[in-house]
Amino acid sequence: MTLVIGKDVPWNAMWSGEDRNEIRPCKYAGNRLALWSPFNPGEGKPIFAKPHHVRQRKSIAEMRCTVCGERTSNGDRWWFPFGDLRDGWWVSTESPVHFRCAEMAQAACPTIGRRQMQPIRFPGGHTILSAMVGGPETDRDFGVKANGRAIVGHLKLGWRAPWFLKPTKECV
Ligand SMILES: [Zn+2]
Repeated sequence: MTLVIGKDVPWNAMWSGEDRNEIRPCKYAGNRLALWSPFNPGEGKPIFAKPHHVRQRKSIAEMRCTVCGERTSNGDRWWFPFGDLRDGWWVSTESPVHFRCAEMAQAACPTIGRRQMQPIRFPGGHTILSAMVGGPETDRDFGVKANGRAIVGHLKLGWRAPWFLKPTKECV
Protein backbone atom coordinates (compact mmCIF):
# COMPACT_ATOMS: atom_id res chain seq x y z
CA MET A 1 0.00 0.00 0.00
CA THR A 2 1.32 3.41 -0.95
CA LEU A 3 1.02 6.00 1.77
CA VAL A 4 -0.33 9.34 0.57
CA ILE A 5 1.01 12.51 2.18
CA GLY A 6 -1.86 14.68 3.39
CA LYS A 7 -4.13 11.66 3.62
CA ASP A 8 -2.37 8.80 5.40
CA VAL A 9 0.67 10.70 6.64
CA PRO A 10 0.80 14.32 7.75
CA TRP A 11 2.93 16.61 5.61
CA ASN A 12 4.93 17.59 8.70
CA ALA A 13 6.10 14.05 9.50
CA MET A 14 9.72 13.06 9.03
CA TRP A 15 10.44 10.07 6.76
CA SER A 16 13.22 7.59 7.46
CA GLY A 17 14.86 8.74 4.20
CA GLU A 18 15.17 12.23 5.71
CA ASP A 19 16.31 11.21 9.16
CA ARG A 20 19.77 12.74 9.37
CA ASN A 21 20.74 16.14 10.64
CA GLU A 22 23.01 19.02 9.76
CA ILE A 23 23.30 22.58 10.98
CA ARG A 24 22.36 25.17 8.36
CA PRO A 25 20.92 28.69 8.34
CA CYS A 26 17.12 28.53 8.08
CA LYS A 27 15.00 31.21 6.46
CA TYR A 28 12.04 30.23 8.62
CA ALA A 29 14.16 31.01 11.70
CA GLY A 30 15.38 34.42 10.56
CA ASN A 31 18.41 32.87 8.83
CA ARG A 32 19.81 31.74 12.15
CA LEU A 33 21.59 28.41 12.40
CA ALA A 34 19.09 25.62 12.82
CA LEU A 35 18.76 21.85 12.75
CA TRP A 36 18.28 20.82 9.13
CA SER A 37 17.31 17.53 7.51
CA PRO A 38 17.25 16.61 3.82
CA PHE A 39 13.96 16.96 1.96
CA ASN A 40 12.82 13.54 0.72
CA PRO A 41 9.19 13.17 1.82
CA GLY A 42 7.86 9.77 0.85
CA GLU A 43 11.25 8.06 1.02
CA GLY A 44 11.42 5.12 3.41
CA LYS A 45 8.88 4.98 6.21
CA PRO A 46 7.06 7.86 7.92
CA ILE A 47 8.04 8.61 11.50
CA PHE A 48 4.74 9.90 12.83
CA ALA A 49 5.90 11.22 16.18
CA LYS A 50 8.81 13.18 14.70
CA PRO A 51 8.20 16.32 12.67
CA HIS A 52 10.68 17.21 9.93
CA HIS A 53 12.69 20.15 11.26
CA VAL A 54 12.33 22.41 8.24
CA ARG A 55 8.68 21.61 7.50
CA GLN A 56 7.82 22.14 11.18
CA ARG A 57 9.38 25.61 11.18
CA LYS A 58 7.84 26.45 7.81
CA SER A 59 4.39 25.44 9.01
CA ILE A 60 4.63 27.65 12.11
CA ALA A 61 6.25 30.59 10.31
CA GLU A 62 3.74 30.54 7.45
CA MET A 63 0.69 29.16 9.30
CA ARG A 64 0.63 26.08 7.08
CA CYS A 65 -1.54 23.09 7.81
CA THR A 66 0.36 20.29 9.54
CA VAL A 67 -1.63 17.69 7.58
CA CYS A 68 -1.57 18.93 3.96
CA GLY A 69 1.14 21.60 4.03
CA GLU A 70 -0.99 24.30 2.39
CA ARG A 71 -1.40 27.72 3.99
CA THR A 72 -4.35 28.22 6.30
CA SER A 73 -6.46 31.35 5.98
CA ASN A 74 -8.00 33.23 8.90
CA GLY A 75 -11.40 31.75 8.02
CA ASP A 76 -10.18 28.15 8.05
CA ARG A 77 -7.48 27.90 10.69
CA TRP A 78 -8.11 25.29 13.37
CA TRP A 79 -5.86 23.83 16.00
CA PHE A 80 -5.47 20.98 18.44
CA PRO A 81 -4.40 22.66 21.69
CA PHE A 82 -1.38 20.54 22.55
CA GLY A 83 1.19 22.26 24.67
CA ASP A 84 2.59 23.07 28.03
CA LEU A 85 2.86 25.95 30.47
CA ARG A 86 6.41 27.27 30.78
CA ASP A 87 7.41 30.45 32.58
CA GLY A 88 3.96 31.94 32.20
CA TRP A 89 3.68 31.03 28.51
CA TRP A 90 1.56 28.35 26.94
CA VAL A 91 3.99 26.92 24.38
CA SER A 92 3.27 24.46 21.62
CA THR A 93 5.02 23.02 18.58
CA GLU A 94 1.65 22.12 17.08
CA SER A 95 0.85 23.76 13.73
CA PRO A 96 -2.66 24.72 12.65
CA VAL A 97 -4.88 22.57 10.46
CA HIS A 98 -7.67 23.13 7.95
CA PHE A 99 -11.04 22.00 9.20
CA ARG A 100 -11.20 19.23 6.59
CA CYS A 101 -7.67 18.11 7.53
CA ALA A 102 -8.47 17.92 11.24
CA GLU A 103 -10.44 14.76 10.48
CA MET A 104 -7.30 13.08 9.13
CA ALA A 105 -5.41 14.09 12.26
CA GLN A 106 -8.19 12.60 14.37
CA ALA A 107 -7.79 9.31 12.50
CA ALA A 108 -3.97 9.28 12.34
CA CYS A 109 -2.96 10.55 15.77
CA PRO A 110 -3.62 8.03 18.55
CA THR A 111 -3.63 10.74 21.23
CA ILE A 112 -6.25 12.81 19.45
CA GLY A 113 -8.30 9.72 18.67
CA ARG A 114 -8.13 8.28 22.18
CA ARG A 115 -9.13 11.54 23.81
CA GLN A 116 -11.66 12.31 21.08
CA MET A 117 -10.12 15.76 20.86
CA GLN A 118 -11.92 18.32 18.74
CA PRO A 119 -10.03 21.10 17.02
CA ILE A 120 -10.62 24.64 18.28
CA ARG A 121 -10.47 27.83 16.24
CA PHE A 122 -6.86 28.94 16.20
CA PRO A 123 -6.44 31.36 19.11
CA GLY A 124 -5.17 34.80 18.16
CA GLY A 125 -2.52 36.82 19.93
CA HIS A 126 0.29 34.31 19.65
CA THR A 127 4.01 34.96 19.50
CA ILE A 128 6.42 32.77 17.54
CA LEU A 129 9.22 31.51 19.78
CA SER A 130 12.33 29.54 18.91
CA ALA A 131 13.32 26.44 20.84
CA MET A 132 17.08 26.79 21.20
CA VAL A 133 19.24 23.70 21.38
CA GLY A 134 23.00 23.19 21.51
CA GLY A 135 25.53 21.64 23.79
CA PRO A 136 26.65 18.05 24.15
CA GLU A 137 23.11 16.63 24.30
CA THR A 138 22.26 18.13 20.92
CA ASP A 139 25.47 16.75 19.38
CA ARG A 140 24.65 13.34 20.79
CA ASP A 141 20.92 13.27 20.04
CA PHE A 142 21.11 14.67 16.50
CA GLY A 143 24.59 13.58 15.42
CA VAL A 144 25.74 17.15 14.73
CA LYS A 145 28.64 19.33 15.88
CA ALA A 146 27.06 22.37 17.48
CA ASN A 147 30.36 23.22 19.17
CA GLY A 148 28.55 25.21 21.81
CA ARG A 149 26.67 27.38 19.31
CA ALA A 150 23.01 28.15 19.95
CA ILE A 151 20.97 26.35 17.31
CA VAL A 152 17.28 26.69 16.56
CA GLY A 153 15.32 23.45 16.84
CA HIS A 154 11.56 23.76 16.54
CA LEU A 155 9.58 26.94 16.27
CA LYS A 156 6.92 27.24 18.91
CA LEU A 157 3.71 29.13 19.30
CA GLY A 158 3.44 30.97 22.59
CA TRP A 159 0.55 32.67 24.33
CA ARG A 160 0.58 34.71 27.50
CA ALA A 161 -2.19 33.92 29.99
CA PRO A 162 -3.84 31.28 27.80
CA TRP A 163 -7.57 30.72 28.15
CA PHE A 164 -7.62 27.28 26.65
CA LEU A 165 -7.38 23.94 28.33
CA LYS A 166 -4.89 22.14 30.48
CA PRO A 167 -1.49 20.78 29.47
CA THR A 168 -1.79 17.91 26.99
CA LYS A 169 1.06 15.69 25.94
CA GLU A 170 2.19 15.74 22.32
CA CYS A 171 0.91 13.29 19.73
CA VAL A 172 2.80 10.02 20.29
ZN1 LIG B 1 -4.75 21.07 5.34
